[in-house]
Amino acid sequence: MAALLTCETDPLTGKTTLALVSDSELFAASFDQYAQFLNENQVVKTGSNAEMVKRLGENIKNAAQRWYTYIGEPNYLKDYKWEYNLVDDPQINAWCLPGGKIVVYTGILPVTENEDALATVMGHEVAHALLNHGKQRVSVGFLQELGLMAAGLAASLAGADENTQTLFLAALGIGATVGVALPFSRENESEADHYGLILMAIAGYNPEESVPFWGRMAAQGSRTPEFLSTHPDPTTRIKDLRDKSIPEAKRKAAKLHLDPLKKESILKAKKIAAEINNQ
Ligand SMILES: [Zn+2]
Repeated sequence: MAALLTCETDPLTGKTTLALVSDSELFAASFDQYAQFLNENQVVKTGSNAEMVKRLGENIKNAAQRWYTYIGEPNYLKDYKWEYNLVDDPQINAWCLPGGKIVVYTGILPVTENEDALATVMGHEVAHALLNHGKQRVSVGFLQELGLMAAGLAASLAGADENTQTLFLAALGIGATVGVALPFSRENESEADHYGLILMAIAGYNPEESVPFWGRMAAQGSRTPEFLSTHPDPTTRIKDLRDKSIPEAKRKAAKLHLDPLKKESILKAKKIAAEINNQ
């Protein structure tokens, strides 16, 4: 029988957090909502930006697997069903639902400018999912408020009205998408910054790019609800990155480094392969 009232210790942070919802219930509901979102929005399927989002997603996924394997939790991600989609929408936004369902909006690309900066964003969003920030919030209060039973989350949502589904998405931190602002706490945001940066560095991206990137984001002001609403002010954030996250990301990356599937690496590999074939 499943225990409904539980806590779990996060293997990355070592923190004990509330987990009233099981992963299987949460993931099922999340996968459902993701499919619905893709149906209702314009997915960009071809072109270099769509390819970049997929390539980046694969790199981040591999880095996450390598990291959990390294800390002795090789099965932690076994129920993840990673998916990465670029959606044509001018919002400066991106998110990752529980279980690895990622959306990047085309509106964020002019701000990221390069793949390392987009890796900063994707690392941050995936870190929210890996650290179960949405799950904690769903656990803390939403289930009671919504009258949903933890054990029947997916079933409850399937038949729920639009309002209930909207609140569920808001609890997962993607509320800006559906018009309900419910940002993550500042503590969750700082955690997502820190662990996300380590993740992108393990994936082979340059953590130094996070500094100019967050500077560009700060210049966007209130147009970036997920990223700025509860975040530390830009000066504090950049100081934290420089003093703490970047050095730690470099140390971890040196230990767990992955060859990134960057465009240059792929082109180089193809060139070498062609040269070998011509010999
Ligand atoms: Zn965030």
